[in-house]
Amino acid sequence: MDNSGIELEANVYNRQVGRDQKKFKVWTSAGLMLSYFCPARCACCYVFSGPNAGEAATEMSTEDALDHWAAIRRLGGDRGKIHLTGGEPFGDFERLERILQGACEKHLGGLEKIETNAYWCTDEKVVRKRLGRLKELGLERLQVSTDVYHQEYVPVERVKLAVRVAQEVLGADGVQVRWRDFYDNPVLVDGMDDLERTEQFLAAYKKRRERLLGRAADELANLLPLRNYEDFAESNCVKSFLGARHVHVDGAGNVFSGTCIGILIGQVKPHEKVSLDELWRSFDYREHPIISTLVDKGPVGLLPIAEDLGYVAKHGYASKCHLCYDLRRFLYEKAEPDQELGPRVCYGLNFEKHRVKA
Ligand code: SF4
Ligand code: SF4
Repeated sequence: MDNSGIELEANVYNRQVGRDQKKFKVWTSAGLMLSYFCPARCACCYVFSGPNAGEAATEMSTEDALDHWAAIRRLGGDRGKIHLTGGEPFGDFERLERILQGACEKHLGGLEKIETNAYWCTDEKVVRKRLGRLKELGLERLQVSTDVYHQEYVPVERVKLAVRVAQEVLGADGVQVRWRDFYDNPVLVDGMDDLERTEQFLAAYKKRRERLLGRAADELANLLPLRNYEDFAESNCVKSFLGARHVHVDGAGNVFSGTCIGILIGQVKPHEKVSLDELWRSFDYREHPIISTLVDKGPVGLLPIAEDLGYVAKHGYASKCHLCYDLRRFLYEKAEPDQELGPRVCYGLNFEKHRVKA
């Protein structure tokens, strides 16, 4: 294993641009989205995950997960980091085991963490057994999500059980509680009326801004103060594409820059020998009309394209990313299938949208 990773000049775009121009940074971290399935339907979810969001085409195979993992280690060398996420990665525990087992056998290293909402933590023995097994296979850190949105769907007792047992199995540093202040003083909106629930959501959003994509665009954005699209005209997305060192990859091989979910950097297909490092080497944002518009002008640059297809600007948007998502969803629905936008699940299009508690 090469420990230093790849040189910037290995990318086709970087070789062409001058010294004074921004280079395309090496991806040194990847979140593997093993599935879009999740028993919850959090209002903050930026990928529209839910009980009916999983489908065969977007389930990540063990082989693909290991290929993406090896590729990020080739790209980043010792700095290359992987986290396993979803949806809810514990929705298929055997797959988690197989992936970690395979990574051990191949001596991949670089596992940062596994994320969970703890919905599966109903029996202490099972939690202890599963975390013990994952520890044997190299897990050092579990991230447990807890906030006002998650606890609409996952009983807080399961989160408490997950954290307590994980601390015992992995050690105090082996558990990342996201977020600790909420964990210490949880607010449960179950039983509150709509007005109180909205107030709690607003208070949570004020503390921590969520990226308003996916379900968050539908369920949170309209609770927030809205601004005219012109307010976002000065803000481009160059950092989010050229400066991102982090990507997400879903089970179909769709690659997203950072958390700009729904915008396709490309597709990796290990069985066709197109791996993440190959994609990084050949990626030149100038060849991608939507991404280059976002890099140069931000989402406001997409507005005339959408207007030509009949889009009418709303009276306001809660954030730059909300504007971006609204335009992209319109473009996706108008121009499907599209090379740069997708997959359908990120735009909430392959399952019914009503809210069901886990
Ligand atoms: S934010 Fe909620 S719905 Fe989305 S993947 Fe996480 S736990 Fe599931
Ligand atoms: S506006 Fe769009 S492209 Fe820019 S950071 Fe937000 S989601 Fe990503």
